[in-house]
Amino acid sequence: MTEATPLLDVQGLGIRFGGLDAVKDVTAVIPAGQITAIIGPNGAGKSTFFNLISGFYQPTAGTIRFQGEDITRLRTHEVVARGIARTFQTTTIYRELSVLDNAMIGHRVRTRAGLWDALLRTGRERKDEAESRAGAMQALERVGLAGRAHLPAGALTQEGQKRVGIAMALSSDPKLLLLDEPAAGMNPEETVNLMALIRELVTGGLSVALVEHKMSLVMGLADQILVLHHGQKIAQGTPAQVSRDPAVVSAYLGS
Ligand code: ADP
Ligand code: MG
Repeated sequence: MTEATPLLDVQGLGIRFGGLDAVKDVTAVIPAGQITAIIGPNGAGKSTFFNLISGFYQPTAGTIRFQGEDITRLRTHEVVARGIARTFQTTTIYRELSVLDNAMIGHRVRTRAGLWDALLRTGRERKDEAESRAGAMQALERVGLAGRAHLPAGALTQEGQKRVGIAMALSSDPKLLLLDEPAAGMNPEETVNLMALIRELVTGGLSVALVEHKMSLVMGLADQILVLHHGQKIAQGTPAQVSRDPAVVSAYLGS
């Protein structure tokens, strides 16, 4: 990888479901050390774009390169091992388990072992336990939850549970974190706190790409914005550039 190699480089990316181009011919670069927002109306293909990058879906066209390496055909755990982690639009935490256990499951599911190994604590799992615990605690510290590690995750507020979801992703120590609508269901105060957390993570060296439905929310946060509409990229630029782009304005008014 040279200086000029972007962190993530997507060329002509596409996936079809039946007759529908959920993502079509998307070419985009996600630079290191920045916050990139992917915005667009509902159904624009934002979550699908993340599903493609993270190996949940196999593209029907195009390539994905991460730090110069072709990762187009890799499976989810292989993508995680390269340094890309994600959260889901709907937070998937285990409410009865402790915050720490959740973060540890995040670590194990995302690295070597499968979900059953992680839940049942097989022999293979116990060997990895100490390492997982350390990784999970570090992730909890990064999201400000170290002091609540032993509470049941379900006892936390909505915002706290979102932070658990982020810690689950961070426990694999990614270089690039993909957040799918992290502020969904949050009130304005919680949203401000979340944005501060995202900024802190980036200051600490992480690169972040986040999907957001509401354009206003990312205006003060993102370094660059990609706009998807009907699966295609219709604009890319700084928040100021994108917000006065006629194609973007009409996509939002028309939706
Ligand atoms: P967004 O996250 O921007 O709201 P999505 O990426 O979830 O949009 O969906 C984009 C389009 O792709 C939608 O029309 C959706 O119904 C369709 N889609 C997404 N995933 C699948 C799937 N697994 N099978 C069929 N259609 C899908
Ligand atoms: Mg979505």
